[in-house]
Amino acid sequence: MKRLSLYPAPVARLIEQFAKLPGIGSKTAQRLAFFVLNMPEAEARGLARAIVEAKQKTKYCSICGNLTDVDPCFICNNPNRDNTLICVVEEPRDVVAMEKTREFKGVYHVLHGAISPMEGIGPEDINIKDLLKRLSQNDVKEVIVATNPNVEGEATAMYISKLIKPLGVKVTRIAHGIPVGGDLEYADEVTLTKALEGRREM
Ligand SMILES: [Zn+2]
Repeated sequence: MKRLSLYPAPVARLIEQFAKLPGIGSKTAQRLAFFVLNMPEAEARGLARAIVEAKQKTKYCSICGNLTDVDPCFICNNPNRDNTLICVVEEPRDVVAMEKTREFKGVYHVLHGAISPMEGIGPEDINIKDLLKRLSQNDVKEVIVATNPNVEGEATAMYISKLIKPLGVKVTRIAHGIPVGGDLEYADEVTLTKALEGRREM
């Protein structure tokens, strides 16, 4: 981005920041920067404030690892949710996908990743330890493993299954209504509901 030096320094900095975002190339970054520059000042402040507040006011739930502004999160805190049923997902955005189905009445456990030997991510690098702690502290009847249907997600599901089964807890895997290699978050609600209903014991 040599040509950035042609922009006034504050504009070049803004373009640089946009270019760090996933899927944003240097052209798009420049377009976004000019869009912001053309915004009314109040709107630009609103955008900046939204970024800072989202960062400051959200944390991970100390129980399930979901993204939340209150701890425990509103799902863990809901007395109507079934604490004996835990759905294990890779990312907070997968919780959102599952919640959209309105079918799941249990609680979640967010791993924050998946096992990936290729990328050097082992079981100790994701939130599995806390899952075991939850199983030992609560009377959990079933763990539904809803990691993504790709190599990493399957490896993670197998690992968790091997770990949990000896504890006498039923472990199930969501059915493959979701395209292999696909992401949970991109599955539509009907597909995800079917995948949940068709889950099989591991
Ligand atoms: Zn929670």
